[in-house]
Amino acid sequence: MKNKFMRNKLFLFALVAVTIYACTSVAVTGRKQLNLVSNSEILPIVNQQYDSVIRKGPLSTNKEQADMVKRCGLKVQKAVEEYMAGKGLSSELQGFDWEFNLIDDPKTANAWCMPGGKVAFYTGIMPICKNETGVAVVMGHEVAHAIANHGRERMSTQMLAQYGLGTLSALMGQSPGAGKELLMQAVGAGTNIGLLKFSREHESEADHIGLIFMTMAGYDPNEAPKFWERMTEGL
Ligand SMILES: [Zn+2]
Repeated sequence: MKNKFMRNKLFLFALVAVTIYACTSVAVTGRKQLNLVSNSEILPIVNQQYDSVIRKGPLSTNKEQADMVKRCGLKVQKAVEEYMAGKGLSSELQGFDWEFNLIDDPKTANAWCMPGGKVAFYTGIMPICKNETGVAVVMGHEVAHAIANHGRERMSTQMLAQYGLGTLSALMGQSPGAGKELLMQAVGAGTNIGLLKFSREHESEADHIGLIFMTMAGYDPNEAPKFWERMTEGL
């Protein structure tokens, strides 16, 4: 009996330890989240996947729009770096290698940001953005998803639910294709879909954090509701 009791106690201890180890907090809101995917595991895969998306492109030849996305991206990046430094959280940006590209695909009203700051806009969202402030609404929102580690949280949940695995390395060892697919799904990097909505919790968190970032970047946050209205009408 004593043995069994000890075993149960040990099991409970291990479970608590895993839960503590696997939980991190969202930078801005402090919400606890499941996180089984580390930056060092995910960033090499992100770089590979992002490169293949950009290589396939095709990138937009509309220089004015492409420059607008890059200019806005750099301002939002600076805002994020300032924000995180102010909170003593700069280490969370370690390994980030920001990039902002506009892909020529007028049918796709989408944009996303992968972990590590790899951003893609599709030309289909540009008429809905209308101007640089509209681009900033989308940029702030998508970057917020990445800073709040929503993609990593979704990957963690899916890894457990779909594969019963606790680390990304284990999944990549078993099936690299599945690991890459999971990443693309988790950041909403598909085409032919509108700006993908994730759970209400993730969306309101990204809206909240995105408004902070766009404002710090020098854009008028009052334009945000107007953009979302246009987005809803456009769908
Ligand atoms: Zn979103």
